[in-house]
Amino acid sequence: MSAKNEIFVLVGSPGSGKGSVSHLCIKEFGWEQLSTGDLCRKHIAEQTEIGKEIDFAIKSGKLVSDSIIVDMVNKWLIDQIESGANVLLDGYPRNLAQAEALDAFLKDEKFADIGLRIIKFAVPDEVVVDRLCNRCICSNKDCQAVYSMAKDSPCKPKEDMVCDACASPLHVRSDDTIETIKERLSIYHEYEDSMLDFYTRKGNEILKVDATKPLVEVFESFKKVVGLKD
Ligand code: ADP
Repeated sequence: MSAKNEIFVLVGSPGSGKGSVSHLCIKEFGWEQLSTGDLCRKHIAEQTEIGKEIDFAIKSGKLVSDSIIVDMVNKWLIDQIESGANVLLDGYPRNLAQAEALDAFLKDEKFADIGLRIIKFAVPDEVVVDRLCNRCICSNKDCQAVYSMAKDSPCKPKEDMVCDACASPLHVRSDDTIETIKERLSIYHEYEDSMLDFYTRKGNEILKVDATKPLVEVFESFKKVVGLKD
């Protein structure tokens, strides 16, 4: 892989494993991750001015307005790019308007050397519905380990609703209800094609990983498609 800075855009439905693969990249390569979902939840927790609007959108499974999201991301990106780190965008862009906004942002000559890689995590809806309905997350913001409570799952915590890694309580995300999961999936499908078409027209290859596989295999295939292993 070249030495220049790279931005990895992770595209995939809710529950496709973008966040989990991002955490492995942070651990193995020291890259930086921006999860727009996490940033939104931080605004809600800190009860910021825009937190109320964000809370309403998240609870109903809708997208937060592009202007709020684009502004948050651009501010974060400026700091990260200046620090020279490779960056994972987990959950951004999520529609054509956001893809165009990222494109406009990167047109600045300061960012001329940055490479953009698009990785699509492919997984059928029924698999992610099952994953999200059974998902529990560590409530410790610095840990955020993900568990599955599905019957026979190898990813259950050893002690009920307690994180194996840091012993904090586990919780279920407020938007992991069946109605909201369906809404999030339908919104994802509504915007996916136009966003990916935009990148294809620009000449960016859409790299694909089979995200139905166990996490370690998805991570291996991620590394392969981005050229980090043969
Ligand atoms: P998921 O991808 O599983 O739905 P996320 O944590 O990425 O979970 O996002 C949770 C919610 O945060 C979304 O349903 C949406 O309301 C909001 N959100 C996250 N990223 C964006 C974005 N790029 N644009 C608009 N809203 C977003």
